[in-house]
Amino acid sequence: MSRQSASKNDRINIVGTGIFGLSTALHLARRGYKHVTVFYKQPYYITQYSYFNGCDGASADINKIIRSAYGSQTEYQHLSTEAIASWKQWNSDLEHGVDVLEGMSSNDRVFIQCGSLNLTDGDALPDFERATVKNMEEAGHRNTQLVTTEREHQKIATSKGMGSAMDPFLRSNRGKPNVGVLDSTGGFAIADKACCLALHQARNFGARFVLDLIAGAFDSFVTSPNGDTIGITMKDGKQHLAALTIMACGGWTPSLLPQLDSLCEATAGSVFIYKIPRTSKLGDSLSPKQFPTWLWKVRDGVEGGLYGFPRDEEGYLKIGYRGTKYTNPKPQEDGIERSLIKILAQAMQVVRRFVPEYLPELEEEGIDVALTRVCWYTDSFDNHFVIDHVPNKRGLFVTTGRSGHAFKYLPNIGNWIDDAIEGVGSTRPAIQAWKWRRLEGAKGARALANVPLVDTRVTTGRTADDIAFGIKYLKTRDIECTEPMKRIIGLSAAN
Ligand SMILES: Cc1cc2nc3c(=O)[nH]c(=O)nc-3n(C[C@H](O)[C@H](O)[C@H](O)COP(=O)(O)OP(=O)(O)OC[C@H]3O[C@@H](n4cnc5c(N)ncnc54)[C@H](O)[C@@H]3O)c2cc1C
Repeated sequence: MSRQSASKNDRINIVGTGIFGLSTALHLARRGYKHVTVFYKQPYYITQYSYFNGCDGASADINKIIRSAYGSQTEYQHLSTEAIASWKQWNSDLEHGVDVLEGMSSNDRVFIQCGSLNLTDGDALPDFERATVKNMEEAGHRNTQLVTTEREHQKIATSKGMGSAMDPFLRSNRGKPNVGVLDSTGGFAIADKACCLALHQARNFGARFVLDLIAGAFDSFVTSPNGDTIGITMKDGKQHLAALTIMACGGWTPSLLPQLDSLCEATAGSVFIYKIPRTSKLGDSLSPKQFPTWLWKVRDGVEGGLYGFPRDEEGYLKIGYRGTKYTNPKPQEDGIERSLIKILAQAMQVVRRFVPEYLPELEEEGIDVALTRVCWYTDSFDNHFVIDHVPNKRGLFVTTGRSGHAFKYLPNIGNWIDDAIEGVGSTRPAIQAWKWRRLEGAKGARALANVPLVDTRVTTGRTADDIAFGIKYLKTRDIECTEPMKRIIGLSAAN
């Protein structure tokens, strides 16, 4: 066990209840750590990880892609395979009524295996997809990566009930190229439900949660005279001393932990949501039974970088843009980015070009973008997680980074994080890749201040709804709205 580690009887603070905080808490509590407390500045028992209820974290979402396809990055392929087994176990537990969360039933699922399609607009499979097919085969996952243009693979897809997922945009019918690979192990997580389930499980194993706008909001570290981190102070002024504090604040982490400066930065992802009416004939063809999750030209820079989902139970059809993820380097006292109320013009442009070409039925039915969201990634400059003790800060650990794809690891990443905390298996390539390191950092070419933005109907981040929720929350608890609280819930001083 590492010199900096905590013992099972020590107090451990975790700040943030996105997937990193949740999974860490779940696995620590499962390993027998008796005093794990997780802090978060929203009452998730009420908001249920729904961004329609004003949740701000990247993990609070309707759905997230799950895939094994990782090109030559076999450490992440392995991690995904492990995660998918756990997602299936969670589904099976739900089905058999094991530890079902209140409000969920044995009909609920948190993972839908509808396949995940990687598409290009070129004539040949890109290197990444070729590497995925090869590496999955070599790892023994034969016939899981199905090339859309190969007749034999089309037959295999049909035998798996995924025939239509090989060409969900009906490209062949339209006489257009349809070149890609269907990862038949993939699909999507029902993100909000999965987070609620993980929180419930962590609590059942004994982790404690302080989910409160004020008492759960991190303010500063408590430091000993020799510089060690010995706890945290929250916005209510209360101190929570602990042998180990784990920072897992997603896009907010770099501003709360400036030591991450050259390693990670918060970047903006643009999300567009269409609403398919219940009466629409597209309801079936866009349902997960027929339509996979998909990624289109996802490594082709600003003019590509789209991904999407089948419609969900409510009819929401989500398309995201990550061709370029912009930064918003406006210094904020509390680390929250509030100036961003518009969606990137470039993202809107790529979606507007893609939809008429690939999903013309939406326009034929007069279905347009219903709402948009800006969601914060925590990108590391070398695209690996940062999971390590903070150097020269005994008692402080961080888990963040490369956050464009971490959701799929909700069930298992905590086990790896706990190994890193304990110093177990530290020679494994993944743990080595996630160690604290110094990188170049990014310059300001992608700063939001330098790129055009467009108005859209609804954006979240700090919306009127969030603010209304914050005010209601304070009122129902009879709490006076002081200036620091106004800043937390996103009110300007004038309100
Ligand atoms: C647009 C977008 C699309 C994505 N799509 C996918 C996908 O399809 N598949 C996939 O696997 N992954 C996907 N990801 C990545 C995935 O969502 C992230 O990797 C993951 O959710 C990050 O979790 P986290 O715990 O680091 O952060 P978060 O989920 O952001 O949680 C951090 C939490 O800390 C809280 N916090 C901040 N400051 C404080 C404070 N002072 N006090 C207390 N709490 C605080 C925040 O409010 C936040 O809720 C996507 C990410 C984005 C942004």
